[in-house]
Parts: sequence; C-alpha cells; structure tokens
Amino acid sequence: MNIHEYQAKQLLKSYGAPVSDGRVVLKAEEAKTAAGELDGPLWVVKAQIHAGGRGKGHFKEPEAGEKGGVRLAKSVEEAETLAKQMLGKTLVTHQTGPAGKQVNRIYIEDGSDIERELYLALLVDRVTSRISIVASTEGGMDIEEVAASTPEKILSFSIDPATGYMPFHGRRVAFSLGLEGPQVKQMVALLGNLYRAFTEKDMEMLEINPLIVMTDGNLKVLDAKLGFDGNALYRHSDIQALRDETEEDPKELEASKYDLNYIALDGEIGCMVNGAGLAMATMDIIKLYGAEPANFLDVGGGATKEKVTEAFKIITSDKNVKGILVNIFGGIMRCDIIAEGVIAAVKEVGLEVPLVVRLEGTNVEKGKEIIANSGLNVIAADNLSDGAEKIVKAVKG
Ligand code: GDP
Ligand code: MG
Repeated sequence: MNIHEYQAKQLLKSYGAPVSDGRVVLKAEEAKTAAGELDGPLWVVKAQIHAGGRGKGHFKEPEAGEKGGVRLAKSVEEAETLAKQMLGKTLVTHQTGPAGKQVNRIYIEDGSDIERELYLALLVDRVTSRISIVASTEGGMDIEEVAASTPEKILSFSIDPATGYMPFHGRRVAFSLGLEGPQVKQMVALLGNLYRAFTEKDMEMLEINPLIVMTDGNLKVLDAKLGFDGNALYRHSDIQALRDETEEDPKELEASKYDLNYIALDGEIGCMVNGAGLAMATMDIIKLYGAEPANFLDVGGGATKEKVTEAFKIITSDKNVKGILVNIFGGIMRCDIIAEGVIAAVKEVGLEVPLVVRLEGTNVEKGKEIIANSGLNVIAADNLSDGAEKIVKAVKG
C-alpha cells in the first residue's frame, strides 16, 4: 500500500526526520488560509497523487497551466491561484502512464533554499533478504536514469539484521555523499530514524528524493515516498487509516474486498486461475500464443461460489477484456464450485466475449457436466496450452 507525500512526511516527522511545515487542502478556498499559517516568504504548492515525477509532469487540461505538479509561490495569493489551477485536474507523469491521475489534494509547504539534492532510499532487497540502503549524489531526478547511465554514482549496501542499523552505516553514506562536519551527525541520526520507521511499520520501500542540503548547511527531507507490506497491514491500523481508495484501481479495490489476489494489466485476455504459480504460467502461455493477459487473478485455494462469481464479475467489468480463460486445477478447490460460480456470474452479468474453460482435478467430471448442461456458449479445453490456443484464436480469429 502506498500513501501520499504529506502523510509520509507526517509519519517520518514523528520519527524525528527533518521536514518543512505544511498544510494539506482539499478545496482551493482553503489554500490562502493554509498558506498564511506558514512562515513564507516562499511556498511550494504540490499535487498529491500516488506517483512520482510530478515536478516534470504536465496537466491534461490547458487551464492548469504549463508547469508540472510542483510549483513555487511567492505570496499566499499566488499559492491559492496555483492550488486552484491544479485541483481536480489530471496530472500525467512518467509513473502514472498516459491516463494520468486526478489531483484531489494539494500540499502547501514552506519553501526551502536548496544547495544540493541527494537521493536516499531503504528497501527490502530480495537477493540478500535484507534491508538495503541506496544513496546517490544525483538526487532530484530520475534515479532509474542515473542507475542506467552512471551506476557508479549509486552506493548500495545491505544491513545485517543481527546488528540492525549502526552509526557506521550512516557515516559511510554521509562520506559517500560528500557531507561534512555536523551534516555527518545529522545523516547518522536521520538514517537511524528512517531505519526504525521502516522496520516498525513494515515498509517495503522508503524513498527520499530529494534529500536536500539547504543553503544553511542542514539536511531536510523534501520529498518522501513510502510503500507498506500489504500482508502486514493488519497490525498497523494507523497506516491503514491513511489509505486513499481514490488512488487505487477500482477493480483491484473490489477484488481486495473479496480477498482475491487480482492485479489489473493492459492486455485483452481475462484470466481466472487458482494458485499464483498457475496464474503466472497462464499469463506466460497466453503471451506465447500471441496475446496479452488483461489481469493476474488467483482465486485462492478454498474459494466459495460467491468468491468465484465476484472474480468473474470483476474480469468482465474490464472494457479491455475481449475473451476469458478460466484455468483451474482442482486440488482443495473443487471444479464443480468453479463451474457453479462461473454460471452464476454469467447469469448475473451476461457474457459478451468468448469463454474458454479448462478444468482438471477434484470433481472435474461434475464440473464439466455442470457447464455442459448450463446451455452457455463455453469452449472446453483439455489442457493449459490447448486452453491458451483456443482463447487466443477465439479473440484474434
Ligand atoms: P516529484 O517531482 O514528484 O519527485 O516531486 P518533488 O517533491 O521531488 O519536487 C520536485 C522538485 O521540485 C525537487 O527536486 C526540487 O528541485 C523542487 N522543489 C521541491 N520543493 C522545493 C522547495 O521547497 N524549494 C525549492 N527551491 N525547490 C523545491
Ligand atoms: Mg521527488
């Protein structure tokens, strides 16, 4: 789960990280008062969406102006004007995709005088099974670009969980970033606080880009992006409360209500599968036969008829879906339950695209019988590749 920049800053502040004072506003009329509560004489007006690259992004609507989603204001009146320009508009960045994201919240912050922009991140490194620190002098811009063109400018090392964070980790980062004097102490303390926040709140990613050196020499967190482990959210009600459902894919949101593992993708073949491994294999084989999956969906081991019905409804609600492949290997999951769920869903929402069903395993005969007697126009498949071939053929001709 991701949260907004302003929420991330509030959380990191509670762990002792240095951030600017700021106010979040939902309506343009609130902007002037909010800005007035801050010191000035410079204000930063920032669009809050769950995507990075806002500064270099652009708005779809011409009335939002030429500049991106991070703008500087020299008066409270200007801050109000900028907030008005951006609220309700669609911001497109390299992370949102061409559709962009609607800006529903604006964060107004005390402006900082920047000397240098650095990059600092903590993440779960699956190769070492440890938390890694990533740091670079090339902050403020696209870190993927830095990694690709000048990888030597990125320092990365992992922390031994037996010792946890140690001051020498902080000093190593500080020296590699060219920090001096009191800045080294600040970095040692900051990294310790970030590491504590990361582990205590079960984060998957913590990215500060940029971490700035101000003209007065002090460090400050100027942008913050946090990602939390969804499987650990049950023990962090405070983090759950920060969830902004308007930022999430409506189909994924619906799926999460029914405890379905669903990820929306860009292709045309909807997939309903049990088991994450089989779901991955199904996506692969669809690609092998020349089409693209519209989603990843694992209905799980012990799904009920209701759950299967909901899953099918979510797949058919996707306008890009031109065909559906149901691929079930019944183990704990029974094929007759799947068949009943599919039929119930089709009766409720109709079926306007070709449907290929491949069933195997527990109660397979019963499942096939239910589908055969349903009167539905279903294409039966014998195995995984047969199923993929048939659905791609049905869609592409
Ligand atoms: P992002 O584009 O979504 O990553 O948004 P950021 O919060 O990182 O802001 C983008 C850029 O705006 C930063 O890299 C800075 O160059 C600039 N910026 C943000 N806040 C301030 C500020 O307080 N003062 C100044 N002078 N520039 C800022
Ligand atoms: Mg940034």
